[in-house]
Amino acid sequence: MLQILNPEWLLTMQGAIRMETGLAVLLENDKIKAIEPLETLTQQHPQATVVHLPGEVLMPGLINTHAHAAMNLFRGIGDDLPLMRWLQERIWPLEAAMVSDEFVFDGTVLACAEMLAGGVTTFNDMYFFPAAAVRAAQAMGCRIAAGITTIEFPTAYASDAADYLSKGLEARDQFKGEANVHWSLAPHAPYTVSDATFKDVLKLADQLDLPIHLHLAETAHEVEDAVSRTGVRPVERLNQLGLINERLLAVHGVHLNESELALLALRGASLAHCPTSNLKLASGFAPVAQALEKGLNVGIGTDSAASNNKIDMFHETRLASLLAKGLSGKADDLPAATALHCATLGAAKAIGLDDLIGSVSIGKQADLISIRIAKDACTQPVGNLLSHLVYVADRTDVQSVWVAGSRVVENRQLRGRSSALSQETVLNRVPLWQTRFQDALGSI
Ligand SMILES: [Zn+2]
Repeated sequence: MLQILNPEWLLTMQGAIRMETGLAVLLENDKIKAIEPLETLTQQHPQATVVHLPGEVLMPGLINTHAHAAMNLFRGIGDDLPLMRWLQERIWPLEAAMVSDEFVFDGTVLACAEMLAGGVTTFNDMYFFPAAAVRAAQAMGCRIAAGITTIEFPTAYASDAADYLSKGLEARDQFKGEANVHWSLAPHAPYTVSDATFKDVLKLADQLDLPIHLHLAETAHEVEDAVSRTGVRPVERLNQLGLINERLLAVHGVHLNESELALLALRGASLAHCPTSNLKLASGFAPVAQALEKGLNVGIGTDSAASNNKIDMFHETRLASLLAKGLSGKADDLPAATALHCATLGAAKAIGLDDLIGSVSIGKQADLISIRIAKDACTQPVGNLLSHLVYVADRTDVQSVWVAGSRVVENRQLRGRSSALSQETVLNRVPLWQTRFQDALGSI
């Protein structure tokens, strides 16, 4: 199937980051086939369907570098608590009581509905029952990088660290060769994963050529506790284990020091920056401008709805830019173009998919979004199109979304199966889950 998308402006995110006019994009099935003036494309491909996007910017879909999608069901369940109390008093007991294939499917459906409508075409997930998350993402038409997760304590999903890994590998086999499904190894964090398990993870990552996605240096307590228990900071421990390399996607990195940032940059690792979650759990401010200055690749992520509480990449991208400036006292830190890079191509690189997604480039997957610029008096005038995207636009300005060439959002609405499935989940099953949470919390 051939489609020509004809936007007012095109932002490819490849090469110099700038708005272009007078260009349309030809899609052949799931891929970007050509970028040329509309006239050229219609002459060469008269049979193609032309989609006109007046007043809209066409750009790569946003990539959520760190998510626990199923936890959308836990939105608002543990507000105003610091990380360890949030985990120990709310999240872990609730997960022990609740987590199941059905829970993960329903939560991931809700997260995909929220993300797609907000211009996110890919999410990098870490959660139990990854097969259920993949089924939900497929049903909703969203690209997923699912995590083969592991942690040292049992849940309803798995009994021990090795069991988590083998179940994750089984899930990966189940979806082998399926489009829009990708994987990572996702050991939870240094404070919940043993050296022996990390060694297994490293071996698997090398064998299967997968990224390693883990929480790292999220809180000051994590670092202090690691030093008192192991004698070294978490980064040094991971370094001794051989995990600081180009496969590593370190999430948060709030308490990475200068030499740790330099080490991660030198080894080609990436950082997932989740500013709202870091603020809400009072973990601190990740040194993102310093990380970028040292050459570390950065992607932006939302973390879960239990610590955010909305899965909104426009919000995260704007906040990342503003926080970087406030933290350093330098207004030119994380400018709009860099922030957009972190939400698209930088994020794609962080999850090992930059040859497939992250920019509007010939041969890449047609994961695209169109954004209505300045639709009303609230957003007029537009002084600078690029900065407008970061500092003014929000997720309600997303008009259309394509994943692998398939239009999943049109005129701000989910289409077809994804619309029906998300409505059915909200109407029929969310109230049931909420009752079960209240019962479970009452007995905790
Ligand atoms: Zn997380």
